[in-house]
Formats: sequence, C-alpha cells, structure tokens
Amino acid sequence: RKWVYGFGAGGSDGTAKMKNLLGGKGANLAEMSSLGLPVPPGFTITTEVCTEFYKNGRNYPAGLEDQVKAGLTKVEDAIGARFGDASNPLLVSVRSGARVSMPGMMDTVLNLGLNDETVKGLEARSGDARFAYDSYRRFIQMYGNVVLNIDHHEFEEVLETHKRDADLHLDTDLKADDWKDVIKGYKKVVEHETGKPFPQDPHAQLWGAIGAVFESWLNPRANTYRRLHSIPEDWGTAVTVQSMVFGNMGEDCATGVAFTRNPSTGENAFYGEYLINAQGEDVVAGIRTPQHLTIKGKEANGSNLPAMEETMPGVFKQLDEVRLNLESHYRDMQDIEFTVQQGKLYMLQTRSGKRTAAAALKIAVDMATEKLIDETEAVRRVDAAALDQLLHPTIDPKAKKDILAKGLPASPGAAAGKIVFAADEAERRAGQNEKVILCRIETSPEDIHGMHAAQGILTTRGGMTSHAAVVARGMGRPCVSGAGDIRIDYKAQTLTVRGHTLKAGDLITLDGSTGEVMLGEVPTRQPELSGDFGTLMGWADKLRRMKVRANAETPLDAETARKFGAEGIGLCRTEHMFFDADRILAVREMILSEDEQGRRAALAKIEPMQRRDFVELFKIMKGLPVTIRLLDPPLHEFLPHGEREITDVATSLKIDEARVRDRVKSLSESNPMLGHRGCRLGISYPEIYEMQVVAIFSAAVEVKKETGDTVVPEIMIPLVGTRKELDILKAIIDRVATETTHQDGTRIEYQVGTMIELPRAALRAGSIAESAEFFSFGTNDLTQTTFGLSRDDAAMFLPTYLRQGIYENDPFVTLDQSGVGELVKIAAERGRATRPDIKLGICGEHGGDPASIKFCETVGLDYVSCSPYRVPIARLAAAQAVL
Ligand code: PEP
Ligand code: MG
Repeated sequence: RKWVYGFGAGGSDGTAKMKNLLGGKGANLAEMSSLGLPVPPGFTITTEVCTEFYKNGRNYPAGLEDQVKAGLTKVEDAIGARFGDASNPLLVSVRSGARVSMPGMMDTVLNLGLNDETVKGLEARSGDARFAYDSYRRFIQMYGNVVLNIDHHEFEEVLETHKRDADLHLDTDLKADDWKDVIKGYKKVVEHETGKPFPQDPHAQLWGAIGAVFESWLNPRANTYRRLHSIPEDWGTAVTVQSMVFGNMGEDCATGVAFTRNPSTGENAFYGEYLINAQGEDVVAGIRTPQHLTIKGKEANGSNLPAMEETMPGVFKQLDEVRLNLESHYRDMQDIEFTVQQGKLYMLQTRSGKRTAAAALKIAVDMATEKLIDETEAVRRVDAAALDQLLHPTIDPKAKKDILAKGLPASPGAAAGKIVFAADEAERRAGQNEKVILCRIETSPEDIHGMHAAQGILTTRGGMTSHAAVVARGMGRPCVSGAGDIRIDYKAQTLTVRGHTLKAGDLITLDGSTGEVMLGEVPTRQPELSGDFGTLMGWADKLRRMKVRANAETPLDAETARKFGAEGIGLCRTEHMFFDADRILAVREMILSEDEQGRRAALAKIEPMQRRDFVELFKIMKGLPVTIRLLDPPLHEFLPHGEREITDVATSLKIDEARVRDRVKSLSESNPMLGHRGCRLGISYPEIYEMQVVAIFSAAVEVKKETGDTVVPEIMIPLVGTRKELDILKAIIDRVATETTHQDGTRIEYQVGTMIELPRAALRAGSIAESAEFFSFGTNDLTQTTFGLSRDDAAMFLPTYLRQGIYENDPFVTLDQSGVGELVKIAAERGRATRPDIKLGICGEHGGDPASIKFCETVGLDYVSCSPYRVPIARLAAAQAVL
C-alpha cells in the first residue's frame, strides 16, 4: 500500500480532495504545489498509518520505512542537500495534520536534522553562526518538549540563567557563543530528564518525531478538542515532513500568517501579520508583537510598526497574487502561512480560514455576488449554529464606560464577568453558575476547557492570530487579546492597569469587537442585523421545505419571533400567562377553592385576561398559525412556598393560613414531572380547560371581526398517553367552541391536536391520530421519559456521562436520534398511516438545534418550532437539511 505521498519540486502525488488520507495540511500542500506555488518539497505519511499504528499495538505497517526513505531521497534531490550531511545538511519540519484543523492540539518540530556536526554545515551555508546555533538550540528545546516530554520550564531556566549570568536581556542580545553555552545546558537537561544523550542521528530524530505526532493524536488536549468538536477518534492524523525554509536568517527574511479576507468582519481585504527575522512559531506564540501586512491594516489597528507592503514591497506583491490565485482556486477564504527566506517567498500552508459568524455571512454573500460560488453554496457555507454569535449582545452605546485598557478586537461580542486567572478556576466557577472572564498572559491548548467555560477571554500578549484569538473566534466567545498595558500577576492573583489593581472575583467587561476592557459590569444591547443576513436568509427560505415557527407566549417574544421570520407559533405555553402579576392571585384562588363552584368563580376572573393575551398574540401573528397548549404543569407550581408568601396569599384572599398550608402540602408530589399534570389536569378539572377554550375562541372572534384576519387556532393537549384522554378533552373543546362562537354566528376554523411527549403516545400514535389533527413532538419530555432522565436533575451527572462517552451529546440539547428519534419516526409513520394529512411538528428545545433539525427533515416533519432567537438558525439549518 502507498503510505507516503510526495509534494513540491514540480508536482505532487496528492490533491486537495485527499484530506481524509493526507490530512488538511498535507492535502493542501499537495494542491498548492500542483498549482505551481512555491512550496518547499516534502512528503506526507497518511492517516491510514496512524490507524494501523494503533490497530497493531503502536507498530508501523510493513513497507513504511522504505517509503519514507524514498520520500526523503526525493526531497534531498530537489533541494540538493543531504539529510545528516555535515557540509550541506537537509533540515526538515515534522507536523501533524488531521482531516479538519485542530489548532494547537498537535505538536510541531522544526529544524530536525541538526546535530553537533550538521550545525556547522548550517553555519557555513548561511554564513551566520548565531543563526545556526540559535536554530540548533530551538530544535533541542522543541524536540525535548514535544518528543521527549520535557517541560518547557527546564529549558527556559537554562536560558534565563545564562542571560542573568552574562547580563543579557533580550534573546536577540545572545551571540553564537552564548547559544553554544545554552546548547550545552539544554543537552544536560535532556540527559538528566531522559537518562540518555540528545539523539544525534537525524534518522533517529525523524522517527522519534513521527512517533510523537502519532502519539499526540491521543493526548488529553487532543481528546478534549475532539470531544468538543465531535471528531471521531478513528480519523487519525497524517504526518507531514517538509524541507525547512528560514524566516530567521536575517533582515531580508520574515515569516507570517494571513487570511485572504478579514476573518473578523469578512471584508474583502488582505489581512495578516508578519515578523521580520523570525520563525513561524514566534508569530503564533505571541512573544513579539507582529506587524501588519498592509498599510490599511496597520492604520485600522493604530499600529506604528511598518507594514510588509512598505518593508518588502516586491514580496508583498507576489504574496498578494498568491492570495488571489488561492481564492479563485479554492473559492473560499484561506488561512495561509508563509516564510520569506533571503527575499524569496515560500508558501507553507493554506487551509479554509476560521472566521467569525459575521465574517462567514459576509464572505458567503459576497462570494455569491462575485459569482465565485452560487447561492446554494453560500447557504451551505454558513454554520447555522454560529449565527448565534450575530445575535450576541454588544455594549450599549449609551452606557458609561470606564475603559481600563485597549487590546486587539480578537473575537466579537460583549461579555461581563468576574476575573479568574486559571482555566480550572474558570470551569469550577462556571459550574456554580458564575459568569467569569478568563484573564491570561497568553493561552495555550491546556486552557481550552476554561475558555469554553468563560463568558470571555482576555490576554495581555499575542496578536489576532494568537491561540486565544483563533480559539475564541471558533467558540464564539468574545476575546480581547494583546492588551499590553495590563499586568497580570498569577501568584498575587491580581490584574494591574492604570493605577487600578483588580483581584480575582472583581467584575470587568470586555468588548471583543473594539478591544476595550472596562471596569465593572457595563450594560449591553441586542444586535442589529446586516443586510447580508436578510439576503442569506432569503436564499435559505427558497431552499427549505420545513416551516419554522417559534415557541412564544408574550407579545414581546411573538414580535421578536416575527422579526426573525417565524411563520407561526408552534407552542404557546399558556401557564406562563398564569404567573403574571395581575392574575396569579386569581389562579391561586382557583387552586385553593374547595369545590368546582369556587374554581369557576376564580376562573371567571382569569378568562378576560387570558382572552386579552390571545387577542394580542393573534394580532401580532396576523393570520399565521398559532398553536396554543392548554395548561400543563402541576398546580402546586403556582402555589406559594415560603412562609411569608403563604401569609401574604392568605391575607390577600382573606382565608385561613392553615388552609393554604394544607393545600400546599396535599398537592405536593414526589415526582411532579410524572404527576398530576398535562391532560390529567384537564380530566380532573375540566373547568380550567373550558375557561382557556372560551378565551381562545372569543379572542379569535374578536380579532377576526376587528382585523379581518382569519385566525385558525390549533389547540394542543399536553402529555397525552391514550386516545381516550384526547377524546374526552376534544369533546369539551368542540362543545365550548360551538357555544362560544354560536353566540354571534362567526365561524372560526380550528384544529385539535396533541403533543407526543410520552413513549406510549408515540407507540399508540396510530390510534391517537384518529382523534388528533396534528402532532407536535414535545421532545423535552419525550427525552426525559424515554431515558428515564429528569430534566431538572440530570445536570448533576450528565458531565460525567459525556466525559465517559456514555452519551455522545447532552440529549436535552441534541436529539438522541437512535432512541428518542426512533419513537418520533414510529409516531410519524403510524400517525400518517391513520391520517395521511396529519400535520407534524416539533416544539421541544431540539427544534432549534441544527443536527436535530436535519433529523426532522429526514422524518419529513412539516415544521420545527424553537425559541425566537433561534429562528434564524432554524431557517438556515432547515435549508441545509435539504442540501
Ligand atoms: C416538551 O416537553 O418538549 C415541551 C415542548 O413542553 P415543555 O418543555 O413545556 O414541557
Ligand atoms: Mg412537555
């Protein structure tokens, strides 16, 4: 089998389509090299080798060694240098590359091939002893850390000690002889830590590095990232071995990273950073502050360091051509890495660039307008779940801000929270429902869990492409990076700036769109959506089959839902209306009544208020369908709990306190979710449902008369388990509907249907459909009852279940397709068999989750219903579900 694919030196064995085999990096290097771009030659060991490696107890497949040797020879021939040759040594980099980019997760080794002999060759070839020995010590440090698992710290200490003893301050102050001393110290560290000398044989170095990449596929950081991004373990990683080019051989050398369009805003402008006389790691690590590529970028960010456009105009022009070339070839925004060695440009990497949701939207719409892609492709390009970021709050422009410092606007959105200085602490406090801002000098992959738990991330070092910036953007967390005026002292647990000293637990606010860091909690505001948003939504609407409705009961929610394009209300939870200040007392009076007569008297007070609610809702929805669910929760939810509240209620209703207390006690249930709720209430107290139905129909009549809109209420019964329940309640609804509308002769069409939220209802859907005109899948309760998992208590052990992979996802967030989904499928089939035109929808939280929406499409539901803010996500996800 072919395990090794070559590239560079005029042609390549692979293509961009071979991502699964060569990893993203390897495939794109192959593609770039066939495009004729200047790519340093190298080869990629396939992901299949990784899979075989683990399958065979960490052993390489037969034939690999020979193929690597042949690959290496080709590279040597192309470069005209030999691996391990003392006078003209070939040096290589070794990198990992999975199918999808896993930033910072996997380890890289540069300058491999250096040893005590070849370093002299490098010195001779470059004519720069300092450079050669600096490269060698970097190599020992990287190799020591990545391959030999020696803590960074050990090497830093040697370097710091040398600097102190020699009275030097910056790394750039060190001369060749200094580095030679440092190298001696580094070697001692290696010998001390591993019991063996630093490997001098380049082939041993190479195989050590290859092994380390494969091993790192299963390291804890990679495992965390995979879990967060649902990347299967058996994909494996490829290893790319590539000849080195040097951005640190002098002032005519540079290294940088760039995006072919602005990854924050999506603007069609070259955007990137570079460092003169530096190696790639320096840009990403954020140790030196990078300079902008373009004059425009420099000015926009208020930098006073010269742009590459000014310092290296020729190379910049060539790079700009590469940018256009790559975009027209890949038809997508690219994230590129390049190095300039002695005035010559080399492309090291290209891949589809990570971007904010706002940028994704703008780029997709722009590229469709530029005819690089079509509308369908544009719809496919925007991650539906990420739209959430566009709906994130911003700082209220009228708010008073006490600005502490300004960093880089690394990831948009505003967030306030308590200062924490460590990822574990962020996770711990977030677990206690505290809002925290993770404040770090810089972040590394070890911090990912804390970044995830935090509302926002602040770093004092590093550019727009630093780890913090890239990861926060991907997660949709607001981030301010490189706020250099701020001093963070981990030991003292303080953050100092402009005379303020803030402690852990103090409040700050970040604006990831401007880079501002503010004292205290600053008020935020909901975002306005751009024209591109409407355009893309319009394209999505043309493609999707399923309708999108919203779960809403208040006029504000209904209006928001309409604004976001909801095509009706899929769930109006009427109990939410019972809690309003003007009626909760009447509701309590009803519950505390001794008999039906008393209850009816209290309900008569509630009815006009419910009617007004429905009138408002119907008016906002202007003839669009509105599904109203009759009362669902157990009655004790409405009763007072604390002693003081009990006294208040008793006084207001002029009844005995003891009676209130008795009623609270008698209604209490040990398992309310499975108790006296849903249609069971309607069966026990038909007068409650009667009142609600009167309110619905009188509101419908009123609105129809007033506006002329046809209102077609869909009345929905919760928690049905048998057809008999539905029959009894439907008879009541039909009777009350006739009575209410007959009074003035207006005809109101309506439908009566049920929620499917119990396994029995799903299984008996064929029979239930004889009475139900529609089903709405209440997948919150259906998940709860199918798993036997309490919605309220599951959070206590769900994290453990997720960590151990017992559940792949939180089943209350993403529909469990193989279990709960099976019941949905069965119910849909059986319901349709009885009543072919039965209307099917979903109104559980899953109705706003893209993966679950895709599933709903495969089952052929007519609509999904979700919270108003998720309506745009659902519209896009429903379109993507048919592509
Ligand atoms: C459901 O159970 O899925 C549902 C929508 O109803 P609720 O969340 O109100 O129980
Ligand atoms: Mg429910």
